[in-house]
Amino acid sequence: MDFGLSSEQRMLIDTVRRFITSELRPLEEEVELDGALAPEKARDILEKSKTLGLYAMNIAEDFGGGGLSTLDWMLAEEQFGHTTDILVRRAFGNIYEILLAGDEAQRERWLLPSVRGERTFSVAFTEPEAGSDAAGIRTRAIRTNDGWLLNGYKHFISDGLFSDFFVVTAVTNPDAGKHGISTFIVDKAMEGVSIGRDQPMMGLRGTSHVELFFDQVHLKQEHLLGAEGKGLKLALETLGRIRLAQIGARSIGKATRILDLSLAHAGERKQFGKSIGDFQMIQQMLADSAVEINAARLALHRTAWEIDQGLDARNQISVVKVQASETLNRVADRAVQIFGGMGYCKDLPIERYYRDARIYRIYDGTSEIHRSVIARALMKGDTSLYQMTT
Ligand SMILES: Cc1cc2nc3c(=O)[nH]c(=O)nc-3n(C[C@H](O)[C@H](O)[C@H](O)COP(=O)(O)OP(=O)(O)OC[C@H]3O[C@@H](n4cnc5c(N)ncnc54)[C@H](O)[C@@H]3O)c2cc1C
Repeated sequence: MDFGLSSEQRMLIDTVRRFITSELRPLEEEVELDGALAPEKARDILEKSKTLGLYAMNIAEDFGGGGLSTLDWMLAEEQFGHTTDILVRRAFGNIYEILLAGDEAQRERWLLPSVRGERTFSVAFTEPEAGSDAAGIRTRAIRTNDGWLLNGYKHFISDGLFSDFFVVTAVTNPDAGKHGISTFIVDKAMEGVSIGRDQPMMGLRGTSHVELFFDQVHLKQEHLLGAEGKGLKLALETLGRIRLAQIGARSIGKATRILDLSLAHAGERKQFGKSIGDFQMIQQMLADSAVEINAARLALHRTAWEIDQGLDARNQISVVKVQASETLNRVADRAVQIFGGMGYCKDLPIERYYRDARIYRIYDGTSEIHRSVIARALMKGDTSLYQMTT
């Protein structure tokens, strides 16, 4: 067992950390106030990150990406957690691996430009009537002579305003339940595709979350991603690693930044003639946060390692999703308490971290859904979720 970092891993962490500190952090306040990142600034951070080789680092080198192992990718993603969602999207890319399921022509048309940072895309699965129950969607793709006719409505689609295309789930066979759902790549410019409201959210300022409408959109065979009827399976199989990164690693990064600030404040802030960090009740909060972050990071690294060994870590990813996102929420809540009134006041970023943290327990599968996955796996005898694997 080796918990040490190689010199390459240290260099990766250091490069990402320095980039975030010098290029992204200075933009945070402005994005929060304006509710958007100015397009010229988005282009600037994209170009700078590409020059450093930091864009699309999860995608294999064969497709022009950084080709990082899962573990190395998680080390970088933990650093991404030290800044905000929209800045990470623009600077480092947000390339869902579901596109790797495309054939050569699809990779050429949609994957490669995304890896080069020329095109952006979102996944559009959720509908007002179907969130946790992803198989309950109503969007229909009806067979025509030369393809399908797409009609329906999605919502909460992250980065939808900025996206050039969408990976969309639709029912192709209503009699086949979850086996009757297929995945399509739909360009925003296609006739019949329209964007509705940018749905206002509690946090994540600067990232758009939109309604997406499909009205008689003509899809051809080239738009079908993977096999017909296998759309849900494809999503389940390809979203795991990105979930581990975007929720697991980023939650831990965010919690770490929040604890850093909490510790500094506990040392500096004086009441009753002492640092508040001298009070045991404050100390308990600090210690609990450190204990939980430490445990969540170990689980993240173990899971990443398992994936790199070619093991099936899908259930373990659910463990990390719950553990890391709930740790982040507890750490953020304690930080507001440690900062007192200043934790609630917009003059400091603590209240923003608290708001931004809340979504991590909801999207990419709620805590309840992932607990159900964990419990089902346990009941089927997957003891690796709590026993030492040999
Ligand atoms: C900011 C934001 C960004 C998003 N980005 C995207 C995106 O880019 N693309 C996309 O497709 N979707 C996106 N989503 C949707 C997100 O994934 C869903 O909101 C999430 O999966 C939950 O679905 P829901 O909101 O419909 O809640 P519901 O499914 O209605 O759940 C409501 C409550 O019921 C509980 N519940 C439901 N079923 C069960 C069950 N079987 N057992 C126990 N409890 C249960 C849930 O845990 C939750 O507490 C985003 C959402 C938000 C808010």
